[in-house]
Amino acid sequence: MKQMKVLVVDDDMDSLAIASLRLKKDGYIIETAGSGDECMHKAREKRPDLILLDVQMPGRSGFEVCKELKSDQRLSHIPVIFLSAADDTSEKVKGLDLGAVDYVTKPFDVFELRARVRAALRTKRLQDLLLKYSEVDSLTEIYNRRVLMSRLHQEWDRTLRSGGVISFIMVDIDRFKLVNDTYGHPVGDEVLETIAYILKSSIRSGDIVGRYGGEEFGIVMVNSTSDEAALAADRYRKVIQMAIFQSKKGEFSVTASFGTADSRRRVSVAELVTASDTALYKAKETGRNMVCKAD
Ligand code: GH3
Ligand code: MG
Ligand code: MG
Repeated sequence: MKQMKVLVVDDDMDSLAIASLRLKKDGYIIETAGSGDECMHKAREKRPDLILLDVQMPGRSGFEVCKELKSDQRLSHIPVIFLSAADDTSEKVKGLDLGAVDYVTKPFDVFELRARVRAALRTKRLQDLLLKYSEVDSLTEIYNRRVLMSRLHQEWDRTLRSGGVISFIMVDIDRFKLVNDTYGHPVGDEVLETIAYILKSSIRSGDIVGRYGGEEFGIVMVNSTSDEAALAADRYRKVIQMAIFQSKKGEFSVTASFGTADSRRRVSVAELVTASDTALYKAKETGRNMVCKAD
């Protein structure tokens, strides 16, 4: 299981040391911060799974820091447990209403703190798992279509701002119905998993691959023209062609066809995707196991 990371934030060095030492023994990776500013910095840099946040700190209070964490889209999902010397109900209510998952009063009982940390991390694990299942295709473990398209939109917007160019590659396995019919659906599934793995391990870092549909994949290539995408696609095509699959009926291999298009002279993401799809269609019509570029 992944080692969880806890960020402990307190201006009181004794309190910081006790909490850190004890939690480190429980097997967590511990990061520490002595102020609100440092907390924000470490939260962005280290991406902890949980933040223990002191309320009374000079400068920004823990409450203000929590507000900032919760208003940042990239940090708002990190659970926060407040640590505070104030034991009155209104303070606890305020802390929880700010989005904290728990509130522990100081001086804290180490057993209680550990149990509350465990509880918060249990929920965080489930939350991470749900997020993963909502983004990743369960068979191939690459992005699903929704995430692929949303990342394409993001990259498209970024490209418009920077004046660069991006490409989209559409991939479709050739005669895949025949693979299912000949070797059975479970073997077909293995082929899909392997091809997804090949694509995922072949793309450049920064590029994005996802499962577009049944036996179709999409690849977003950042900073690439259609020509460059076609060269890359041809490399992927060759690797796919080399893979050997086993079945009860013997070994076999498959091929795939590719269509590429880039963002130049196109007015929308939809137009870019349609252009790659049309190019893919041309590759299918021209004989399959090939790469075609959009006009
Ligand atoms: P073409 O070369 O023209 O692309 O032919 P094709 O047979 O690959 O295309 P077609 O669209 O006729 O068939 C796609 C097949 O993909 C049909 C469907 O059963 C299969 N398929 C889609 N999703 C899955 C899946 O998750 N697992 C398996 N095993 N097969 C799937
Ligand atoms: Mg303090
Ligand atoms: Mg196909």
